[in-house]
Amino acid sequence: MPRDILIVGAGIAGLASAIAISNEFSPVAPGLSISVFDGASELSTSGGAISLTPVAQRYLDELGVLSELDRMGDQAGIEVDAIDLFSVRSGRRLGPLRFTDENGQGYGGYKGRRVLRSALSEAMLAVARKLPNVSVHYDRKVVGGNTTAESATLVFEDGSTATGDLVLGCDGVHSATRTKIVDPGNRSEYTGISFIQSMGETRDFKMPMPFQQTAVHLARHSSLLTSYCDPKHEQLFIAAIVRVSEHLIERYQAMSGTDLSAQKNMRMSMRYLVRAQFGMSNLPYIRELIDKTEDWMLYPVYQVRQRGKWYTERILLLGDAAHAMPPRDESAAYAVEDAIIFSKLLARNPDCPLAMLFAEYEDIRRDLVNKAFDASRRLWQSDLDKGLFPGQTRDLMSPLHLPPDSCVGKRAMHFITKSLPAPTHESFSDLSVYSLTSELARTADATNGD
Ligand SMILES: Cc1cc2nc3c(=O)[nH]c(=O)nc-3n(C[C@H](O)[C@H](O)[C@H](O)COP(=O)(O)OP(=O)(O)OC[C@H]3O[C@@H](n4cnc5c(N)ncnc54)[C@H](O)[C@@H]3O)c2cc1C
Repeated sequence: MPRDILIVGAGIAGLASAIAISNEFSPVAPGLSISVFDGASELSTSGGAISLTPVAQRYLDELGVLSELDRMGDQAGIEVDAIDLFSVRSGRRLGPLRFTDENGQGYGGYKGRRVLRSALSEAMLAVARKLPNVSVHYDRKVVGGNTTAESATLVFEDGSTATGDLVLGCDGVHSATRTKIVDPGNRSEYTGISFIQSMGETRDFKMPMPFQQTAVHLARHSSLLTSYCDPKHEQLFIAAIVRVSEHLIERYQAMSGTDLSAQKNMRMSMRYLVRAQFGMSNLPYIRELIDKTEDWMLYPVYQVRQRGKWYTERILLLGDAAHAMPPRDESAAYAVEDAIIFSKLLARNPDCPLAMLFAEYEDIRRDLVNKAFDASRRLWQSDLDKGLFPGQTRDLMSPLHLPPDSCVGKRAMHFITKSLPAPTHESFSDLSVYSLTSELARTADATNGD
């Protein structure tokens, strides 16, 4: 029975795993110790705002994170009932995409949420730190490690090491746990899509904004997301989701450590890119937003090759480290779902050999993740995935399927099946909205003679 658990990464998957394992496994594993190691010097305050789907909200509620967030007042983010859609060129409203049913109720009781990444991390960290057997350590960058049948060892940048019974690699898309230990050489790949984003103060903008909480403005090959992030609507998150060449990404990254004037030039290039895409909009508030926003940051989106290895001896990859995919705004739900499924498997099979447990976990997860990955890729390859939208509601309601002869046993399987919501691979998101409705935008533009 693993009692000394090491988690690499204090991001969404890492903290969700620490909380879920502590909740589920502590009662059956006396003396349990969960140590989380993150390479950053402290909790990150950057990254803008993240969209949480109803499913993600449900998981975070189960972990106690939603109530922690809700205690944070204005930092808790806002609930999103619907995403308002507009055509960038014609300015026409294309309709709302709702996170609620016909009675205004959220799916399974949960709507969407837009929250600052830093606030979400703070809430997750607060929950984790209240648990007696969880410790979180910053400035501990993993650079390598190894595993045998008996134990797993992590090697940190400063030369120190940590040894445990089980390691969870939750260190994100560029995971060292993956590239150095579990699946050497399986490096992340750039998707071709980037977010160029900024935060603004709404008092700086004079034009009325005709959306309730969040809007996506669709152009032919890009979209502009605008969203309030606080109940008072004082902060505005703006993100241009555009195709950016790998060459530009490399230049941007090379500049990040260089002199200030080079960085300023790069920021101007970002501004130029966004203006070129959206500066000619028929919507006056979009023109004003683009005109007045100067400080844009580039966030390229990477993915991990599909069907790579997820585990070896005593180390398992979870979240983006295992399956980062082209964006659809629901990867956070996958990361938390990974953590919850694995912790339930572990708690119900404390004496099951890890190799069997990992295989079981992969059996449950691989197909769903592959489907999600394929769906994301399709969305970005073709702007016309007409069949997807009706499928979304159906899939949100369908049960999670587990293999019949699981080592977790029938009672546990029944419990997991009952307690987990439907698979997430085709649920609502700003980004699927982009692809789903770009045809609509084209139709609207054509009608308007644009
Ligand atoms: C631009 C952009 C926008 C996105 N928007 C959304 C959205 O709106 N909704 C959504 O659901 N998803 C979104 N995603 C995806 C989502 O952010 C990820 O799926 C999610 O963060 C994955 O969580 P994770 O814990 O696996 O990885 P991460 O959140 O990346 O966390 C990894 C952690 O590991 C640490 N780490 C990394 N390397 C090491 C190392 N060597 N040693 C120790 N620690 C290490 C990092 O510091 C970090 O804390 C977006 C992604 C991008 C790029």
